Amino acid sequence: MSTKIELPSSIVIRDLAQKIEKSPIDLIKKLMTNGVMATINQSVDFDTAAIVVGEYGFEAVAEVIEEEVKKETGEVPLWRQMIAGEDGTQLKLRPPVVTILGHVDHGKTSLLDAIRSTEVAAGEAGGITQHIGAYQVEKKGRLITFLDTPGHAAFTQMRARGAQGADIVVLVVAADDGVMPQTREAIAHAKAARVPMMVALNKIDKANANPDRVKQQLAELELVPDDWGGSTMVVPVSAKQKMGIDDLLEGILLVADSTEIKANPAGKVIGTVIEAELDKSKGVLATLLVQNGTLESGDIVVAGTAYGKLRAISDFKGKPIKKAGPSTPVAVMGLSDVPSAGDIFEVVQSEKEARAIVSERAQTAKTLSQTKKKVSLEDLFANVQAGEAKELNLIVKADVQGSLEPIVTELNKLGEGEIGLHILHAETGNIGNNDVMLASASKAIIVGFNVQADVDARRMAEKEGVDLRLYEIIYRMTEDIEKALKGMLEPEIVEKVLGKATVLKVFEASKFGRVAGCKVTEGELRRGAKVRLYRGTDIVYEGDLSSLRHEKEDAKEIRTGFECGVGFKSFNDIQPGDQLVCYLIEKGA
Ligand code: GDP
Repeated sequence: MSTKIELPSSIVIRDLAQKIEKSPIDLIKKLMTNGVMATINQSVDFDTAAIVVGEYGFEAVAEVIEEEVKKETGEVPLWRQMIAGEDGTQLKLRPPVVTILGHVDHGKTSLLDAIRSTEVAAGEAGGITQHIGAYQVEKKGRLITFLDTPGHAAFTQMRARGAQGADIVVLVVAADDGVMPQTREAIAHAKAARVPMMVALNKIDKANANPDRVKQQLAELELVPDDWGGSTMVVPVSAKQKMGIDDLLEGILLVADSTEIKANPAGKVIGTVIEAELDKSKGVLATLLVQNGTLESGDIVVAGTAYGKLRAISDFKGKPIKKAGPSTPVAVMGLSDVPSAGDIFEVVQSEKEARAIVSERAQTAKTLSQTKKKVSLEDLFANVQAGEAKELNLIVKADVQGSLEPIVTELNKLGEGEIGLHILHAETGNIGNNDVMLASASKAIIVGFNVQADVDARRMAEKEGVDLRLYEIIYRMTEDIEKALKGMLEPEIVEKVLGKATVLKVFEASKFGRVAGCKVTEGELRRGAKVRLYRGTDIVYEGDLSSLRHEKEDAKEIRTGFECGVGFKSFNDIQPGDQLVCYLIEKGA
């Protein structure tokens, strides 16, 4: 009987050899006799790997992939949470909402334009002149909604606000350029949001287009193309020559069919704000994407902290309509204020109810901004125990590929325990704003090895409450994370300042050496606490406050406004004018 062996949908030759304990050279030779040319670092798909291991007497079985496990553990797309309260028997299929992500210049805008002009403009005199941030096309009698603001900044902004506009991500990759940094980022964003992805292989018209190379790169990123036996649909297109657009739309419908995107048209009206602006003459103009229920003109809507009775609803062509069902983007007028893209909107019964909701939200927003909840490594275990987290999301940055790979391998090993570990994104380079944005939207922690964080990124991390950790030794990083996963990480050490004082005079006291005659200017000085002595901006001493006296009497503490004599352990170089800060070392919350 042959031994069973679990294999993923794609595997690198080196790993495969290791798995079956054979030499990679031997494996490469076997592949060659089967007509497959591959180097040690290249990956092969499941079917190919299965044939080769079969020759060594193994039976290949498909590994349960991570995403499937995730589905079972209850990680659901946000829109499903939106309809969680609906009667299951009333749910009907709704058009898929698609967003386009990809590297700059790979053709996102051109593709959106091509789809709009070929599919919508047909039969529409003059085509569509207004852009409201979304549009719909019809294919085979079914509708598809496209979000018109490409790029992951918009996508992530929505997620950061708890919304999920898109049901499907179309990843645009230029066939002449291949996978680039923002392609990887886009994949990380889509994976983090658990939104199904398909690929539009664009610029196929170019002479130097190399589709196979791109497919290879995608396979290495676990997006194994369907024609290679994987599950990622890859559709060759040319946005410029408007080629392959039909295939792309049909592909989208297939992906939609496999994910069962549903809503209750008669249910609670809820959706997401796509964009909004203030128009001088018309007031607030907002584009809303209805995700459940049917929006009607005259409805009272609350969106974020804006509300109002909808005066007019029009479709993406600017045509006034009375009603809009699930997945329909509409332009509306009548809101009191400009909501933010990504705000969730809902219909309520009365303006009074709307006002109450809005004022409560404003209050919560205020308290939240005061007690910004941070996802920190220290808090991880507590969050897990409180049922608020099941896994640790990580973004890993390293200086070079050579260090990134072993780090990812080590970290993945750690995620096999009770608390899972999910690496959303691993890349070389400094930590930038994009990393912080992804971390913030995905409640992830950023770890960096031998890299810096850009000033902007630091500022943003601070504002968003993103935990950013830099290491210079790999095992320190893995050790910290291992401890956090096991709930053993020591809380962060923080300094608590007790008080400040100014040195007025310096005395010679035989018993203590030199003593500083000080005046406490803030808080208090406490014996046994730590002190730091500043001369200008330089720190001249840091250590223990060993003696504290008030008018020749030993004192435990001296408060603001009082004078005292302070002695430092084994330090005598005190000068008038030095500033003293007294503090305690505490373990953070
Ligand atoms: P974006 O930054 O991803 O939105 O990319 P754009 O849509 O702005 O396209 C970038 C450039 O690539 C533009 O000069 C386009 O004309 C060109 N481009 C886009 N799609 C194609 C295509 O299918 N074939 C060719 N040859 N050029 C394209």
